[in-house]
Amino acid sequence: MCSGRIDPEFVFRAFAKGVDGVFIGGCLLDECNFVTHGNYQALNMVLLCRKIMEHIGLNPDRLRIAFMSSGDGTVYVEAVNGFVRKIKDLGPIGSEQGISEEKLALEFARVRKLIPYIKMVKREKLETQLRNEATREDFYTVEEMEEMFESVVSYYIDPEKCKACMICARNCPVDAIEGGKGMVHVIDQEACIKCETCYNVCPDKFGAVTKIVSEPVPDPMPVAARAISR
Ligand code: SF4
Ligand code: SF4
Repeated sequence: MCSGRIDPEFVFRAFAKGVDGVFIGGCLLDECNFVTHGNYQALNMVLLCRKIMEHIGLNPDRLRIAFMSSGDGTVYVEAVNGFVRKIKDLGPIGSEQGISEEKLALEFARVRKLIPYIKMVKREKLETQLRNEATREDFYTVEEMEEMFESVVSYYIDPEKCKACMICARNCPVDAIEGGKGMVHVIDQEACIKCETCYNVCPDKFGAVTKIVSEPVPDPMPVAARAISR
């Protein structure tokens, strides 16, 4: 019901499925019936997604948001028709920059895997209601996106420090931590969404979860060597 419900994952999933353009219609800004002003959240999310699109070499005009009331039938028709014309001019997604389908698929997979992480690191900015139109276009920058993608954080459990208390595994929202009673715990890097929970919940006296930035994560300990002798 609310444009604020639209997640970057919806947008990039559509593009990954071959959709050439995504149009989001929201209620008029400053006329939301609720204190949440979800349409401002949607606007902010679109601005972020457009910069991510630029970062991966896509024309950001393939994503558009427009605001209108339920009585603005003509405005809606004009906005949608104008968008469809624009997308037809641009052609199939990726074609204007000559990006191959394989490369595009890899880029979308990379971005989609990082969406929970991106929402976490940009949380403060994403909560900003951009009421001043002049500040919107440069609220996010391509340089900022480059820096964000280059300094992605990973988490690693130091087998020397892990005491198998199982707190991290119980709190991981995506069950990305392998372990069990008396076993050194190991993060499945493919499944991890980089939410930072394990880093925050591992007791200070163990401090076994390490944050790694822009460096390869050490290989996981072989399963046969994970039993902890007390
Ligand atoms: S960072 Fe989050 S998703 Fe990744 S292993 Fe830790 S708790 Fe699980
Ligand atoms: S919370 Fe820390 S000590 Fe406990 S299992 Fe996880 S990494 Fe090991």
